[in-house]
Amino acid sequence: MAKPQLAIDGGTPVRTRLLPYGRQTIEDDDIAAVTETLRSDWLTTGPKVCEFERALAAVAGTSHAVAVSTGTAALHAAMYALGVGPGDEVVVTTMTFAASANCAAFLGAKPVFVDVEPDTLLIDPKQVEAHITPRTKAVIAVDYAGHPCDYDALEAIAVARGLPLVDDACHAIGGSYRGKPIGSLALLNAFSFHPVKHVATGEGGAVTTSDAELARRMRLFRNHGITTDFRERAVQGAFAYEMVDLGYNYRLSDIQCALGITQLAKLQASVARRQAIARQYDKAFRENPAVKPLAVRSDVSHAYHLYAVQLDLDALTADRATVFRALRAEGIGVNVHYMPVHLHPFYQNKFGTARGLCPVAEAAYDRLLSLPMFPAMTDADVADVVEAVGKVCKAYRR
Ligand SMILES: *Cc1c(COP(=O)(O)O)cnc(C)c1O
Repeated sequence: MAKPQLAIDGGTPVRTRLLPYGRQTIEDDDIAAVTETLRSDWLTTGPKVCEFERALAAVAGTSHAVAVSTGTAALHAAMYALGVGPGDEVVVTTMTFAASANCAAFLGAKPVFVDVEPDTLLIDPKQVEAHITPRTKAVIAVDYAGHPCDYDALEAIAVARGLPLVDDACHAIGGSYRGKPIGSLALLNAFSFHPVKHVATGEGGAVTTSDAELARRMRLFRNHGITTDFRERAVQGAFAYEMVDLGYNYRLSDIQCALGITQLAKLQASVARRQAIARQYDKAFRENPAVKPLAVRSDVSHAYHLYAVQLDLDALTADRATVFRALRAEGIGVNVHYMPVHLHPFYQNKFGTARGLCPVAEAAYDRLLSLPMFPAMTDADVADVVEAVGKVCKAYRR
């Protein structure tokens, strides 16, 4: 059978307008909520922050949520609350966005990278155990792509060593593990509200916890290390405040929290749509031997921030970079998540990490592709992705 002419070789693309890999959904109720806040007395640190934090704690099935300016700030606040500092080590998966490890480096600690399971690309609990030393201060798991990690295994290791477990849950809000919602599975759980994530506030983040003292420390940290905020002083009729530690301005504004509240109300529906898209992809790729979706464990509800696949390079004449360019030319906004963090020049130069440290993640990286995944995708959009992937795989079939 004739091989199709790819757009990259001058053929007709499947789509003329690029379908992005992720995109926010902003509707009239979101816009109305922001407009209402703009007309109110409070633009920052007003009633919407508390309302958003309460709603988020409820979704996470836990007692405290502390809203901050970004997901990165959330991870930084979590490390601060745990007292991470120079001389400490923090065990973290390498298959993640750099911020998952940077948060330890911010405080002078050393990120210790561990490898992942080959079928899910989630942190391997056995590797966590093997990398714990007397200097280890915390363990950070990442629910890569939105698939919750194996928290029973991770918690058992953490409890046995007296170590706090942190979930970088930036991919996974709305997911669950053995019936327990993401946000309640680790001592501290960090979220991002960047527009490609499930809940968009422009920039934004939060940490959820059941520990009141850790929540108090994070509230201090996000507000310069000052013990009361402006609103509390207004209520008390007081002018004096004390800065008791070195904090940052990591506050999330009322404008952003107003948007977060309406976005959060639609989380369940948006996760359900992501799951429906994933089922369509799963079904289509069962017939394509060159494309292997990641495994999904039976005891989780996957939040599908990403739909990542591994290419079977033995079945193709092209490498990942070529397949990536060919799909982009077809109008499909594929992406790669992620280059393992230990391979970034900063970590190689500053912490002496090198290729060979996490062989499973490194091998996966050469084959990874993220396909478009966002709730506003139509079934026709999904069909375009399936068609383009089929066309490109056929053209490069060995
Ligand atoms: C998005 C993301 C972050 C950082 O969130 P920002 O809000 O962009 O700072 C951290 N960790 C992971 C795994 C992420 O995907």
